[in-house]
Amino acid sequence: MTRHGNGSEELQRAYRTCPLCEATCGLEITFQDGRAVTVKGDKDDVFSKGYICPKGAALADLHYDPDRLRRPLMKKNGTWVEVGWDDAFAAVESGLMTLMDTYGRDAIAVYAGNPCSHTMAGALCLRPLFKALRSRNIFSASTVDQMPKHVSSGLMFGHPGTIPVPDVDRTRFLLILGADPLESNGSLATAPDWPGRLRALKRRGGKLVVVDPRTSRTAKLAHEHLPVKPGGDPFLLMALIRVLFEEGKVNPGRLSDHIVGVDAVHELCRPFSPEAVEKRTGIDASVVYRTARELASAPSAAVYGRMGTSTVQFGALTQWLIDTVNILTGNLDRPGGAMFPTPAHMPRRNRPGGKGWTLGRWKSRVKGLHEVMGELPVCTMCDEMEVPGQGQVRALITVASNPVIALPNSARVERALAGLDFMVSVDFYLNASTRHAHVILPPTGPLSTAQYDFSFYNLSVRNIANYSPPVIPKPDDEMDKWEILYRLAMIFSHQGATAKAEQMDDLIIGMMVDGLAKKEGTPLFGRQAEILEAMKDLRGPDRMLDFMLRTGAYGDGFGLNNGGLSLSKLIEHPHGMDLGSLEPRIPGILRTASGKIELAPHPMVQDVQRLVEAMDRPGPGSLVLVGRRHLRTNNSWMANIPSLVSGPHRCVLHIHPEDASRLGLEDGSTAEVKSRVGRIAVPVEITSDIRPGVVSLPHGWGHDLPGVGMGVARAHGGVNSNVLSDDESFDPLSNNAVLNGIPVEVAVDHTKPRSPDLHRNSLISSGTN
Ligand code: SF4
Repeated sequence: MTRHGNGSEELQRAYRTCPLCEATCGLEITFQDGRAVTVKGDKDDVFSKGYICPKGAALADLHYDPDRLRRPLMKKNGTWVEVGWDDAFAAVESGLMTLMDTYGRDAIAVYAGNPCSHTMAGALCLRPLFKALRSRNIFSASTVDQMPKHVSSGLMFGHPGTIPVPDVDRTRFLLILGADPLESNGSLATAPDWPGRLRALKRRGGKLVVVDPRTSRTAKLAHEHLPVKPGGDPFLLMALIRVLFEEGKVNPGRLSDHIVGVDAVHELCRPFSPEAVEKRTGIDASVVYRTARELASAPSAAVYGRMGTSTVQFGALTQWLIDTVNILTGNLDRPGGAMFPTPAHMPRRNRPGGKGWTLGRWKSRVKGLHEVMGELPVCTMCDEMEVPGQGQVRALITVASNPVIALPNSARVERALAGLDFMVSVDFYLNASTRHAHVILPPTGPLSTAQYDFSFYNLSVRNIANYSPPVIPKPDDEMDKWEILYRLAMIFSHQGATAKAEQMDDLIIGMMVDGLAKKEGTPLFGRQAEILEAMKDLRGPDRMLDFMLRTGAYGDGFGLNNGGLSLSKLIEHPHGMDLGSLEPRIPGILRTASGKIELAPHPMVQDVQRLVEAMDRPGPGSLVLVGRRHLRTNNSWMANIPSLVSGPHRCVLHIHPEDASRLGLEDGSTAEVKSRVGRIAVPVEITSDIRPGVVSLPHGWGHDLPGVGMGVARAHGGVNSNVLSDDESFDPLSNNAVLNGIPVEVAVDHTKPRSPDLHRNSLISSGTN
């Protein structure tokens, strides 16, 4: 605070990007006496222009949360004790290396949670850890989330990270399937202020159509809501494609010279007439014909799908069909369609072609499930921990994650974690999962670390770059996440528990620089020493970011492009840099072996047969469970913030009045919900905002377990929806877990009185699995 001569006081302000979700909003943080006191939307932020949601406003509460761990914890005789960093790493080395030496590297598994993609360390420093560990048992939240999109993009465009995003600011027709960006703030499509952007679409005369079994907030904003049956999306998309072919409306436009496989798709869609799929979709055939015609005739259109189209039996196929509709209507890679960002931290590619992309380089030990992107699917993680034999997982490293709440068949995950020989967690909460750890290594708080959204500028609806330095100095006895991950990597590299993170850091940046400067004929050839000297004042992710920016699409090329981007230039722009609207990237961005878009990749073609067989099968049971999002929740990890869990209880079962009446359920009564693997008791909310035959629960709840060190979260426990999700149920192409469309039985829970006290415990009992 600055005190002026006239007695008035000026608060200090700092600006940073919110690290809590994919929207990357700019925040203005006000300080008093060195403490952050308010967090508001930064109205000068080039992307979010002042938009903020309740989670962003609670960022300082997260930083100051008294339950957030600041120093390592070690379990001694069943009791947690705070220890110094060297002691903690020594315990980790002893616990993990003994197991590795005895049972091999595959005996150590890693599970990386969703927040990893929201930090610089998570984006840059996990890979070196995996490389040092060299275990096949790497798991992440990707296989309870977006892995189907990676598979689809890898097969079609040659790289799993080449993901098109809806050009929401210019499109004239937006078809959203299985997504509720007004609650989720968007995913795989980084755009602050979805409400404002969708209203702008309507104001400029565009049309918004939402396909969802629930009348979500986004569906309520739309011109048209198609209440599809859960799992009906791939049938609907196939029918749209068939209409496009039947009516001569296939027109990929500029892309025609860059596609192979159009005829194959024509053949594949033949069984899926709008009439034939009506039973599976619940959507009248006439609506499908009209929607296909509107998509084809719109000046521009984008089809976009998220969780409801990803965490399902045909996840990869559905993602492929979404992009196929965009391509066949000429809307891929054109303004207003679905486009590819040009992030500042990556070079611009101008020449098509490459090695292509494959999956299945190795398989899981127990079930033989294939690897995707270097990971095995989480739906088999417990198999690998519980089934004895050579290669059994005996130790786990969790990073920013809560698998007991996030993964299917939670009761089994709970048992599997409890049975491990050793577990270490990189996490700043003692949560439902880390309570099983032997050592917890907490990274410093969110205001004491730098931020640049590597993951989300790859998915951004405008080309944006924004870097935020720490706004509160990191206390000397705290450690940044990159240092923790590198020290673990040093342990697996046999450098010992006391080896410094800086050694690994120097090694990694040296390899990055060599990767470019050792290539003969490239502009940076032979300049390694000069480049390293230019970055000598930087360390860790900051140095890697500087290198990536300077050699990236807008970079200064270490002097080759004066005025170009570097970290120091980005720091001069605390509200971020707007690098412009998305631009056409095809063909340069294609890395398939053919150098073309593979419209009918072999694994997808094969999987269509499964869809054909499913078409006439009855749906899964009389009631199916789907998820839902809420603006105030963030998976499982913001539940300890009072402002986010206050107000009406949100962890309730939504059920349609017809189903409630048939089952004798009343508003506020307690329902028993059973699936193949577990059962829960949950308060009921009767609403016509959901289709008959479908019930809905939010995910990320269920914190009131013994030993959880999050007081607020425990007091607002809620029920864990993943007690019901089934680890035997997954999409066999992406191996992504099925979290939407779970067959369930619902009945009145006569053991519970009708009560407004909705804070029931989470794990009531498990099934037999
Ligand atoms: S929308 Fe996401 S990025 Fe924006 S303030 Fe909320 S949590 Fe943060």
